[in-house]
Amino acid sequence: MHEASKATPLIQLDSVCKYYPDGDVHALRDISLEIQAGESIAIVGPSGCGKSTLLNILGALDRPTSGEVLFRGKSIQGEDLNRLRSREIGFVFQSFYLLPNLTAIENVQLPMFEGDLPLAQRVETAERLLGLVGLKDRVNHLPNQLSIGQRQRVAIARAMANSPAIILADEPTGSLDSASGSEVMRLLLELNSQHQTTLVIVTHDLSLAEQTGRKLQMRDGALVADKNQTVQR
Ligand code: ADP
Repeated sequence: MHEASKATPLIQLDSVCKYYPDGDVHALRDISLEIQAGESIAIVGPSGCGKSTLLNILGALDRPTSGEVLFRGKSIQGEDLNRLRSREIGFVFQSFYLLPNLTAIENVQLPMFEGDLPLAQRVETAERLLGLVGLKDRVNHLPNQLSIGQRQRVAIARAMANSPAIILADEPTGSLDSASGSEVMRLLLELNSQHQTTLVIVTHDLSLAEQTGRKLQMRDGALVADKNQTVQR
């Protein structure tokens, strides 16, 4: 009984297809996949092969055309996806999506407004998370007073705000120079190894993709390879 519950994947996709009638695109073709809690996974493949579509379905931002998505063994069909997302999933995007008129610490607090944390606790958590991403001395800076790499670190702190089970990152280093890109990757992997936050990252950078424990290769909407890798950090 105990063994069985341990083995329940965090997320499971069963024969997931995504069809966009607009353009007659089969963006995902029969994808079956299990993601265990604590894994670090890179999704790679040529532009247009379906990586973002897959990430959006993993993050309950979108529903499949057919097939099933299970979160902790339970189908998300009929679930309140907003609630699931805000409690369990942190997102990091290529273009950060910070609100320009809010300071770093205010941006990090945004996801916490969904819950009922008192102000003092929100502030304390946001401060702690900004410390975790190395921005303890930048809490009151506005996004445009931060370097591009620092902005992405604020976005990562925000993704961690509700202690999500999983962080989904779509080309998180795509707007960064290679030094800050490596720094952001290091940070994501550190959150994965030290806080057991499951990590799924879409990247076209093969050197980054080699740093995760598992690599999924996509082509034309299909999963063509799924390999465990020896992590060298
Ligand atoms: P990738 O992230 O690998 O670049 P995407 O998942 O963004 O690929 O896109 C997969 C395919 O689905 C592409 O052909 C893209 O043009 C198409 N697509 C993505 N989103 C939509 C949409 N909302 N409507 C129609 N087609 C879409």
